[in-house]
Amino acid sequence: NVSVVLFTSDLRLHDHPPLRAALGSAEQVVPLFVRDDGIHAAGFPAPNREAFLADCLTDLDAGLRERGGRLVVRSGDVVDQVCRIVVESDADEVHMAAGVSGYAQRREERLRRALESEGRRLHVHDTVITALAPGAVTPSGSDHYAVFTPYFRRWAQERLRDVLGAPRTVRVPDAVSSERLPSRKDVAGVSEGLSTGGEKEGRRRLAIWLRGSLADYADRHDDLPGDATSRLSPHLHFGTLSPVELVHRARAAGGPGADAFVRQLAWRDFHHQVLAARPAAATADYRTRHDHWRSEDSAAEEIAAWKEGRTGYPVVDAAMRQLLHEGWMHNRGRLLTASFLTKTLYVDWRVGARHFLDLLVDGDVANNQLNWQWVAGTGTDTRPHRVLNPVVQGKRYDPDGVYVRRWVPELEGLRAPVVHEPWRLRGPERAAYDYPDPVVDLSDGLVRFKRARGRD
Ligand code: FAD
Repeated sequence: NVSVVLFTSDLRLHDHPPLRAALGSAEQVVPLFVRDDGIHAAGFPAPNREAFLADCLTDLDAGLRERGGRLVVRSGDVVDQVCRIVVESDADEVHMAAGVSGYAQRREERLRRALESEGRRLHVHDTVITALAPGAVTPSGSDHYAVFTPYFRRWAQERLRDVLGAPRTVRVPDAVSSERLPSRKDVAGVSEGLSTGGEKEGRRRLAIWLRGSLADYADRHDDLPGDATSRLSPHLHFGTLSPVELVHRARAAGGPGADAFVRQLAWRDFHHQVLAARPAAATADYRTRHDHWRSEDSAAEEIAAWKEGRTGYPVVDAAMRQLLHEGWMHNRGRLLTASFLTKTLYVDWRVGARHFLDLLVDGDVANNQLNWQWVAGTGTDTRPHRVLNPVVQGKRYDPDGVYVRRWVPELEGLRAPVVHEPWRLRGPERAAYDYPDPVVDLSDGLVRFKRARGRD
């Protein structure tokens, strides 16, 4: 007999419960990935993620071939394609990871109905995409946690399942054909410094991380020039690394760095459980509604300056240019650039979230939309009125200006602290730097923010 394993955001062979279950119940397995029209129609794919995905699929295929199998890739409507494969391979059942977004939940439901009408079964496995399944812990009276700290307290007490090894052999029926695998080279508009995808690369980075910077993570995670975070986010987004395995391995390493890292992994689960319970939070304000954002037309110039990294605030511009160049940005950069757009320029968080999703290789509905809402004060932040001052942030997290000079070469000749406030230079000294004046006066921004939030 035959089982189909539908891969989605779990492009790995290690610690893969759906694959393990399929191999346990069938002699042959069809490892399937569908390039889903529905996701394309929703405008979600972006060149950086398409390129990274191509790496992941190539690597997954290579891993399966080493085990006697191969990956089957199809394009079209995901439900149609799975049903076709089920017929072609005469499979009895389909295994897949539980999804989180509204789209993933509808996909699962459509798939279940379609398969059941053909007399086949869909098995949906949780703790594949998150460490703890959304809904596994809930506060009394609600279906999800709206505040991180109590969530984390409960999360940390839960026992995670054991990590599964990669299978030794995978036998795929000959009758099932695959489309050509996509290649990174086919994708146009990819950021120059984009990292490489695939499970092999993810595991390589993980090993380096566990041996190296993890120990210092608690002290250095906000160090912008030090770049001392794991950079595993794209691997978590595409599931080339398992969050369950990451938590276990970090805990085994132990120490304050590992504790702080595990806490960040819990933030990821936290946002996923919010989105799973409230899929509308992908576009609608989650907790506090704000209608006073400036219109995109009236703020068009400032928005363009923000996107292109020429706001005149060096640390904001450095971070926005890192995003353009790498398709990735340091978390501290994400916080301060998002605060600048929503609280200083007073532009709707959806504008910024869209731009991030257009570029981020780890661009993820749960993490991106809900972090944007957190910063904008419409989401789960318990201090929605905090505003990050970009000059203070620059001086604090890039005290010597190394990060700014790395990404804003126009300011190469400047030292800290003036590198964070080049407008303080006077006359010919200022004229020597081909760098814009600030697009907004910070105190004007603050007045606008307080007025709009009714706090003046
Ligand atoms: P590390 O510091 O090494 O953390 C380890 C892992 O923990 C990360 O890979 C990530 O999976 C998780 N994590 C860390 N911080 C957070 C957080 N605040 N929320 C959720 N998970 C977290 N992360 C994404 O994965 N995709 C996004 O689209 C995304 N958009 C963001 C948008 C904004 C405005 C902000 C403020 C944050 C966003 N984040 C997003 C969260 C965070 O910035 C990134 O996960 C992190 O910078 C990735 O780098 P890293 O892997 O080196 O993280």
